[in-house]
Amino acid sequence: MIVPFNKPYMTGRELNYIAQAHFQGVLAGDGRFTQDCQAELERRTGSRKVLLTHSCTAALEMAALLLDLQPGDEVIMPSYTFVSTANAFALRGAVPVFVDIRPDTMNIDERLIEGAITSRTRAIVPVHYAGVGCEMQTIVRLADAHGLAVVEDAAQGVFSSYRGQPLGSFGDLGAFSFHETKNIISGEGGALLVNDKELVAAAEVIWQKGTNRQQFHRGEVDKYTWQRTGSSFLPGEIVAAFLKAQLEEAESITAKRLAAWRRYHQRLLPLAREGLLRLPTVPEHCTHNAHMYYVILPEQVRRDELLAALRRDGIYCLFHYVPLHSAPGGQVARVHGSMKYTDTLSERLVRLPLWWGIGESEQDYVTERLAQHLQAQLAQEAAHV
Ligand SMILES: *Cc1c(COP(=O)(O)O)cnc(C)c1O
Repeated sequence: MIVPFNKPYMTGRELNYIAQAHFQGVLAGDGRFTQDCQAELERRTGSRKVLLTHSCTAALEMAALLLDLQPGDEVIMPSYTFVSTANAFALRGAVPVFVDIRPDTMNIDERLIEGAITSRTRAIVPVHYAGVGCEMQTIVRLADAHGLAVVEDAAQGVFSSYRGQPLGSFGDLGAFSFHETKNIISGEGGALLVNDKELVAAAEVIWQKGTNRQQFHRGEVDKYTWQRTGSSFLPGEIVAAFLKAQLEEAESITAKRLAAWRRYHQRLLPLAREGLLRLPTVPEHCTHNAHMYYVILPEQVRRDELLAALRRDGIYCLFHYVPLHSAPGGQVARVHGSMKYTDTLSERLVRLPLWWGIGESEQDYVTERLAQHLQAQLAQEAAHV
Protein backbone atom coordinates (compact mmCIF):
# COMPACT_ATOMS: atom_id res chain seq x y z
CA MET A 1 0.00 0.00 0.00
CA ILE A 2 1.25 3.51 -0.85
CA VAL A 3 0.25 6.23 1.59
CA PRO A 4 1.36 9.67 0.36
CA PHE A 5 1.89 12.46 2.87
CA ASN A 6 -0.82 14.69 1.41
CA LYS A 7 -3.42 14.73 -1.35
CA PRO A 8 -4.81 18.17 -2.18
CA TYR A 9 -8.60 18.08 -1.93
CA MET A 10 -10.71 19.68 -4.65
CA THR A 11 -14.42 20.22 -4.34
CA GLY A 12 -15.16 19.94 -8.07
CA ARG A 13 -16.67 23.43 -8.29
CA GLU A 14 -13.30 25.15 -8.76
CA LEU A 15 -13.47 24.68 -12.54
CA ASN A 16 -17.00 26.13 -12.74
CA TYR A 17 -15.90 29.31 -11.05
CA ILE A 18 -12.73 29.51 -13.12
CA ALA A 19 -14.90 29.09 -16.24
CA GLN A 20 -17.09 31.98 -15.03
CA ALA A 21 -14.03 34.22 -14.58
CA HIS A 22 -12.90 33.18 -18.06
CA PHE A 23 -16.33 33.88 -19.56
CA GLN A 24 -16.60 37.27 -17.89
CA GLY A 25 -13.13 38.20 -19.09
CA VAL A 26 -12.12 39.70 -15.75
CA LEU A 27 -8.77 38.15 -14.89
CA ALA A 28 -6.79 40.79 -13.01
CA GLY A 29 -7.03 41.02 -9.24
CA ASP A 30 -9.72 42.59 -7.06
CA GLY A 31 -12.63 41.41 -9.20
CA ARG A 32 -15.85 39.75 -8.10
CA PHE A 33 -14.26 36.47 -6.95
CA THR A 34 -11.60 38.26 -4.90
CA GLN A 35 -14.27 40.42 -3.25
CA ASP A 36 -16.49 37.39 -2.55
CA CYS A 37 -13.61 35.52 -0.87
CA GLN A 38 -12.61 38.56 1.17
CA ALA A 39 -16.19 39.15 2.33
CA GLU A 40 -16.52 35.49 3.30
CA LEU A 41 -13.27 35.56 5.26
CA GLU A 42 -14.34 38.79 7.00
CA ARG A 43 -17.65 37.19 7.91
CA ARG A 44 -16.01 34.06 9.31
CA THR A 45 -13.21 35.76 11.25
CA GLY A 46 -14.78 39.08 12.21
CA SER A 47 -11.70 40.82 10.80
CA ARG A 48 -12.14 44.49 9.83
CA LYS A 49 -10.63 44.00 6.34
CA VAL A 50 -9.29 40.93 4.60
CA LEU A 51 -7.08 41.22 1.50
CA LEU A 52 -6.21 38.17 -0.61
CA THR A 53 -2.50 37.76 -1.32
CA HIS A 54 -0.28 35.48 -3.39
CA SER A 55 0.73 33.59 -0.27
CA CYS A 56 0.98 33.78 3.49
CA THR A 57 4.58 34.84 2.88
CA ALA A 58 3.28 37.86 0.94
CA ALA A 59 0.77 38.67 3.71
CA LEU A 60 3.60 38.65 6.28
CA GLU A 61 5.69 40.89 4.01
CA MET A 62 2.74 43.29 3.81
CA ALA A 63 2.57 43.25 7.61
CA ALA A 64 6.24 44.22 7.88
CA LEU A 65 5.65 47.12 5.42
CA LEU A 66 2.51 48.22 7.25
CA LEU A 67 4.31 48.37 10.59
CA ASP A 68 6.95 50.49 8.84
CA LEU A 69 9.73 48.39 10.34
CA GLN A 70 13.21 49.89 10.12
CA PRO A 71 16.62 48.20 10.09
CA GLY A 72 17.49 47.13 13.62
CA ASP A 73 13.90 46.95 14.85
CA GLU A 74 13.24 43.71 16.69
CA VAL A 75 10.41 41.22 16.20
CA ILE A 76 9.85 38.44 18.73
CA MET A 77 8.88 35.01 17.38
CA PRO A 78 9.60 31.29 17.78
CA SER A 79 12.58 29.72 16.01
CA TYR A 80 10.42 26.62 15.56
CA THR A 81 8.49 27.88 12.52
CA PHE A 82 8.50 28.10 8.73
CA VAL A 83 11.10 30.33 7.07
CA SER A 84 8.63 33.04 6.00
CA THR A 85 7.72 34.03 9.56
CA ALA A 86 11.22 35.44 10.03
CA ASN A 87 12.16 36.18 6.42
CA ALA A 88 9.30 38.65 5.88
CA PHE A 89 10.64 40.88 8.67
CA ALA A 90 14.35 40.30 7.90
CA LEU A 91 13.57 41.57 4.38
CA ARG A 92 13.00 45.02 5.95
CA GLY A 93 16.23 44.78 7.92
CA ALA A 94 14.40 43.95 11.13
CA VAL A 95 15.96 41.44 13.52
CA PRO A 96 13.98 38.31 14.38
CA VAL A 97 14.38 37.56 18.10
CA PHE A 98 13.80 33.90 18.85
CA VAL A 99 12.36 32.56 22.08
CA ASP A 100 11.76 28.93 22.96
CA ILE A 101 8.51 27.01 22.53
CA ARG A 102 6.23 25.34 25.06
CA PRO A 103 6.84 21.58 25.17
CA ASP A 104 3.10 20.79 25.13
CA THR A 105 1.74 22.69 22.08
CA MET A 106 5.06 23.50 20.34
CA ASN A 107 3.84 27.14 20.28
CA ILE A 108 5.89 30.14 21.42
CA ASP A 109 6.24 30.09 25.22
CA GLU A 110 4.35 33.23 26.19
CA ARG A 111 6.12 33.28 29.58
CA LEU A 112 9.46 33.96 27.85
CA ILE A 113 8.34 36.88 25.70
CA GLU A 114 8.58 39.70 28.24
CA GLY A 115 12.23 38.92 28.98
CA ALA A 116 13.06 39.29 25.26
CA ILE A 117 11.60 42.81 24.95
CA THR A 118 14.12 45.65 24.47
CA SER A 119 13.83 49.32 23.45
CA ARG A 120 14.07 48.14 19.79
CA THR A 121 11.18 45.66 20.00
CA ARG A 122 8.28 46.54 17.68
CA ALA A 123 6.18 43.42 17.35
CA ILE A 124 5.37 39.91 18.56
CA VAL A 125 4.65 37.21 15.97
CA PRO A 126 2.91 34.18 17.46
CA VAL A 127 2.71 31.16 15.13
CA HIS A 128 -0.27 28.86 15.68
CA TYR A 129 1.45 25.53 15.18
CA ALA A 130 -0.71 22.72 13.78
CA GLY A 131 -3.69 25.10 13.94
CA VAL A 132 -3.67 25.11 17.75
CA GLY A 133 -3.85 28.60 19.20
CA CYS A 134 -1.00 30.29 21.09
CA GLU A 135 -1.84 31.83 24.48
CA MET A 136 -3.33 34.93 22.88
CA GLN A 137 -4.77 36.38 26.08
CA THR A 138 -1.30 36.74 27.60
CA ILE A 139 0.33 37.78 24.33
CA VAL A 140 -2.17 40.56 23.54
CA ARG A 141 -1.98 41.84 27.13
CA LEU A 142 1.83 41.93 26.97
CA ALA A 143 1.79 43.72 23.62
CA ASP A 144 -0.64 46.34 24.93
CA ALA A 145 1.42 46.92 28.06
CA HIS A 146 4.60 47.49 26.01
CA GLY A 147 3.06 49.28 23.01
CA LEU A 148 3.94 46.48 20.57
CA ALA A 149 2.09 45.24 17.51
CA VAL A 150 0.92 41.63 17.22
CA VAL A 151 1.09 39.85 13.86
CA GLU A 152 -0.37 36.35 13.95
CA ASP A 153 1.18 33.82 11.63
CA ALA A 154 -2.06 31.87 11.28
CA ALA A 155 -0.89 30.07 8.11
CA GLN A 156 -1.99 26.77 9.67
CA GLY A 157 -4.79 28.20 11.79
CA VAL A 158 -7.51 28.95 9.25
CA PHE A 159 -10.88 28.43 11.00
CA SER A 160 -9.37 27.39 14.33
CA SER A 161 -10.28 29.33 17.45
CA TYR A 162 -8.94 30.28 20.87
CA ARG A 163 -11.49 30.81 23.64
CA GLY A 164 -14.17 30.92 20.94
CA GLN A 165 -12.50 33.62 18.85
CA PRO A 166 -11.07 32.81 15.39
CA LEU A 167 -7.28 32.68 15.06
CA GLY A 168 -5.94 35.52 12.96
CA SER A 169 -8.39 37.98 14.52
CA PHE A 170 -6.48 38.71 17.75
CA GLY A 171 -3.48 40.61 16.42
CA ASP A 172 -3.34 44.01 14.76
CA LEU A 173 -2.69 41.83 11.70
CA GLY A 174 -3.05 38.15 10.86
CA ALA A 175 -1.81 36.03 7.96
CA PHE A 176 -3.49 32.96 6.39
CA SER A 177 -2.09 30.47 3.89
CA PHE A 178 -4.00 28.68 1.14
CA HIS A 179 -0.95 26.78 -0.08
CA GLU A 180 -1.65 23.34 -1.56
CA THR A 181 -0.41 21.70 1.66
CA LYS A 182 -2.84 23.56 3.92
CA ASN A 183 -6.52 22.80 4.69
CA ILE A 184 -8.25 25.27 2.36
CA ILE A 185 -6.24 25.74 -0.80
CA SER A 186 -5.75 27.71 -4.00
CA GLY A 187 -2.37 26.31 -5.06
CA GLU A 188 -0.35 29.25 -3.86
CA GLY A 189 -2.42 31.77 -1.94
CA GLY A 190 -2.97 33.62 1.28
CA ALA A 191 -4.70 36.51 2.98
CA LEU A 192 -3.87 39.42 5.23
CA LEU A 193 -6.35 40.05 8.03
CA VAL A 194 -6.32 43.72 9.00
CA ASN A 195 -7.95 43.88 12.42
CA ASP A 196 -6.77 47.35 13.39
CA LYS A 197 -9.03 49.79 11.54
CA GLU A 198 -6.25 52.41 11.56
CA LEU A 199 -4.24 50.17 9.22
CA VAL A 200 -6.92 49.42 6.61
CA ALA A 201 -6.31 52.40 4.30
CA ALA A 202 -2.52 51.86 4.26
CA ALA A 203 -2.97 48.12 3.72
CA GLU A 204 -5.07 48.77 0.59
CA VAL A 205 -2.37 51.09 -0.79
CA ILE A 206 0.47 48.64 -0.08
CA TRP A 207 -1.59 45.85 -1.71
CA GLN A 208 -2.06 47.86 -4.91
CA LYS A 209 1.57 48.71 -5.76
CA GLY A 210 1.68 51.64 -3.35
CA THR A 211 -1.15 53.46 -5.15
CA ASN A 212 -4.61 54.61 -4.07
CA ARG A 213 -6.19 52.58 -6.87
CA GLN A 214 -8.63 51.13 -4.34
CA GLN A 215 -10.04 54.59 -3.59
CA PHE A 216 -10.20 55.28 -7.32
CA HIS A 217 -12.19 52.03 -7.79
CA ARG A 218 -14.70 53.19 -5.21
CA GLY A 219 -15.00 56.59 -6.93
CA GLU A 220 -13.49 58.44 -3.97
CA VAL A 221 -10.77 60.09 -6.11
CA ASP A 222 -10.71 60.87 -9.86
CA LYS A 223 -7.23 59.43 -10.57
CA TYR A 224 -4.82 57.18 -8.77
CA THR A 225 -1.17 57.91 -8.04
CA TRP A 226 1.84 56.62 -6.16
CA GLN A 227 1.26 57.18 -2.43
CA ARG A 228 3.96 55.20 -0.60
CA THR A 229 6.12 52.08 -1.01
CA GLY A 230 4.09 48.97 -1.64
CA SER A 231 4.09 46.16 -4.15
CA SER A 232 1.77 43.93 -6.15
CA PHE A 233 0.39 41.60 -3.51
CA LEU A 234 -2.99 40.69 -5.02
CA PRO A 235 -3.69 37.40 -6.84
CA GLY A 236 -5.57 37.24 -10.14
CA GLU A 237 -9.22 36.24 -10.38
CA ILE A 238 -8.47 32.66 -11.50
CA VAL A 239 -6.87 31.95 -8.11
CA ALA A 240 -9.70 33.70 -6.25
CA ALA A 241 -12.29 31.69 -8.25
CA PHE A 242 -10.58 28.47 -7.16
CA LEU A 243 -10.52 29.65 -3.54
CA LYS A 244 -14.21 30.56 -3.57
CA ALA A 245 -15.14 26.93 -4.23
CA GLN A 246 -12.93 25.83 -1.36
CA LEU A 247 -14.31 28.38 1.10
CA GLU A 248 -17.84 27.21 0.33
CA GLU A 249 -16.87 23.78 1.67
CA ALA A 250 -14.72 24.95 4.57
CA GLU A 251 -16.95 23.36 7.22
CA SER A 252 -17.03 19.92 5.70
CA ILE A 253 -13.31 20.02 4.87
CA THR A 254 -12.52 20.79 8.51
CA ALA A 255 -14.98 18.18 9.82
CA LYS A 256 -13.55 15.49 7.59
CA ARG A 257 -9.96 16.28 8.61
CA LEU A 258 -10.98 16.32 12.28
CA ALA A 259 -12.49 12.85 11.97
CA ALA A 260 -9.19 11.52 10.59
CA TRP A 261 -7.23 13.39 13.27
CA ARG A 262 -9.35 11.87 16.04
CA ARG A 263 -8.98 8.43 14.57
CA TYR A 264 -5.19 8.67 14.67
CA HIS A 265 -5.43 9.96 18.22
CA GLN A 266 -7.59 7.03 19.30
CA ARG A 267 -5.45 4.43 17.54
CA LEU A 268 -2.21 5.83 18.95
CA LEU A 269 -3.38 6.26 22.54
CA PRO A 270 -2.35 2.72 23.55
CA LEU A 271 1.14 3.31 22.08
CA ALA A 272 1.43 6.53 24.05
CA ARG A 273 0.46 4.64 27.21
CA GLU A 274 3.23 2.12 26.49
CA GLY A 275 5.69 5.02 26.18
CA LEU A 276 6.35 4.41 22.47
CA LEU A 277 5.55 8.02 21.54
CA ARG A 278 3.93 11.22 22.72
CA LEU A 279 0.69 12.56 21.23
CA PRO A 280 -0.13 16.19 20.41
CA THR A 281 -1.69 18.35 23.12
CA VAL A 282 -4.73 20.52 22.40
CA PRO A 283 -5.61 22.76 25.37
CA GLU A 284 -9.23 22.70 26.49
CA HIS A 285 -9.84 26.29 25.35
CA CYS A 286 -8.52 25.72 21.82
CA THR A 287 -10.63 24.41 18.92
CA HIS A 288 -8.31 23.27 16.16
CA ASN A 289 -8.76 22.56 12.46
CA ALA A 290 -6.85 19.26 12.21
CA HIS A 291 -4.21 20.83 10.02
CA MET A 292 -1.65 18.29 11.13
CA TYR A 293 -1.19 15.07 13.05
CA TYR A 294 2.24 14.69 14.59
CA VAL A 295 3.88 12.47 17.19
CA ILE A 296 6.97 13.02 19.35
CA LEU A 297 9.35 10.07 19.46
CA PRO A 298 11.21 8.89 22.56
CA GLU A 299 14.71 10.38 22.80
CA GLN A 300 16.52 7.14 21.96
CA VAL A 301 14.65 6.48 18.68
CA ARG A 302 16.63 7.22 15.52
CA ARG A 303 14.16 9.26 13.49
CA ASP A 304 15.96 9.01 10.13
CA GLU A 305 15.90 5.23 10.31
CA LEU A 306 12.26 5.22 11.29
CA LEU A 307 11.29 7.49 8.38
CA ALA A 308 13.33 5.35 5.96
CA ALA A 309 11.69 2.15 7.23
CA LEU A 310 8.22 3.68 6.82
CA ARG A 311 9.11 4.81 3.32
CA ARG A 312 10.10 1.24 2.41
CA ASP A 313 6.57 0.32 3.51
CA GLY A 314 5.21 2.99 1.13
CA ILE A 315 4.36 5.42 3.93
CA TYR A 316 5.48 9.00 3.45
CA CYS A 317 5.97 10.78 6.76
CA LEU A 318 7.78 14.08 7.18
CA PHE A 319 9.49 16.01 9.93
CA HIS A 320 10.05 19.71 10.48
CA TYR A 321 11.26 22.29 11.23
CA VAL A 322 15.01 22.77 11.13
CA PRO A 323 14.89 25.52 13.79
CA LEU A 324 15.58 28.88 12.15
CA HIS A 325 18.34 29.78 14.61
CA SER A 326 20.38 26.80 13.37
CA ALA A 327 19.72 27.47 9.65
CA PRO A 328 22.16 29.55 7.54
CA GLY A 329 19.57 32.31 6.98
CA GLY A 330 18.88 32.52 10.70
CA GLN A 331 22.23 34.12 11.40
CA VAL A 332 20.59 37.56 10.99
CA ALA A 333 18.49 36.80 14.07
CA ARG A 334 19.10 37.08 17.80
CA VAL A 335 18.46 34.15 20.12
CA HIS A 336 16.95 35.01 23.48
CA GLY A 337 17.65 32.42 26.18
CA SER A 338 17.71 28.66 25.89
CA MET A 339 16.37 26.90 22.77
CA LYS A 340 16.00 23.67 24.74
CA TYR A 341 12.56 22.53 23.58
CA THR A 342 13.01 23.96 20.09
CA ASP A 343 16.20 21.93 19.67
CA THR A 344 15.16 18.69 21.32
CA LEU A 345 11.55 18.39 20.15
CA SER A 346 12.21 19.42 16.54
CA GLU A 347 14.56 16.42 16.33
CA ARG A 348 11.91 14.03 17.60
CA LEU A 349 8.80 15.13 15.73
CA VAL A 350 7.20 13.09 12.94
CA ARG A 351 4.16 14.23 10.91
CA LEU A 352 1.79 11.50 9.75
CA PRO A 353 -0.07 11.44 6.41
CA LEU A 354 -3.34 13.36 6.71
CA TRP A 355 -5.70 14.64 4.05
CA TRP A 356 -9.37 14.99 3.23
CA GLY A 357 -10.59 11.47 2.58
CA ILE A 358 -7.67 9.42 3.94
CA GLY A 359 -9.11 5.93 4.37
CA GLU A 360 -9.40 3.98 7.60
CA SER A 361 -7.31 1.18 6.11
CA GLU A 362 -4.59 3.69 5.22
CA GLN A 363 -4.61 5.14 8.73
CA ASP A 364 -4.52 1.66 10.28
CA TYR A 365 -1.60 0.68 8.06
CA VAL A 366 0.30 3.82 9.14
CA THR A 367 -0.29 3.26 12.86
CA GLU A 368 0.50 -0.47 12.65
CA ARG A 369 3.77 0.01 10.77
CA LEU A 370 4.74 2.91 13.01
CA ALA A 371 4.15 0.80 16.12
CA GLN A 372 6.09 -2.11 14.71
CA HIS A 373 9.16 -0.06 13.73
CA LEU A 374 9.14 1.75 17.07
CA GLN A 375 8.92 -1.51 19.00
CA ALA A 376 11.72 -3.01 16.92
CA GLN A 377 14.03 -0.03 17.46
CA LEU A 378 13.34 0.13 21.18
CA ALA A 379 13.89 -3.63 21.60
CA GLN A 380 17.18 -3.37 19.72
CA GLU A 381 18.15 -0.43 21.91
CA ALA A 382 17.29 -2.36 25.08
CA ALA A 383 19.35 -5.37 23.93
CA HIS A 384 22.42 -3.11 23.56
CA VAL A 385 22.27 -1.73 27.08
C1 LIG B 1 2.77 27.38 5.23
C2 LIG B 1 3.32 28.36 6.19
C3 LIG B 1 3.77 29.64 5.80
C4 LIG B 1 3.90 30.04 4.37
O1 LIG B 1 2.72 30.00 3.67
P1 LIG B 1 2.76 30.29 2.07
O2 LIG B 1 1.32 30.53 1.76
O3 LIG B 1 3.33 29.07 1.43
O4 LIG B 1 3.59 31.49 1.87
C5 LIG B 1 4.15 30.53 6.78
N1 LIG B 1 4.13 30.20 8.07
C6 LIG B 1 3.72 28.99 8.49
C7 LIG B 1 3.70 28.68 9.95
C8 LIG B 1 3.32 28.02 7.57
O5 LIG B 1 2.94 26.81 7.98
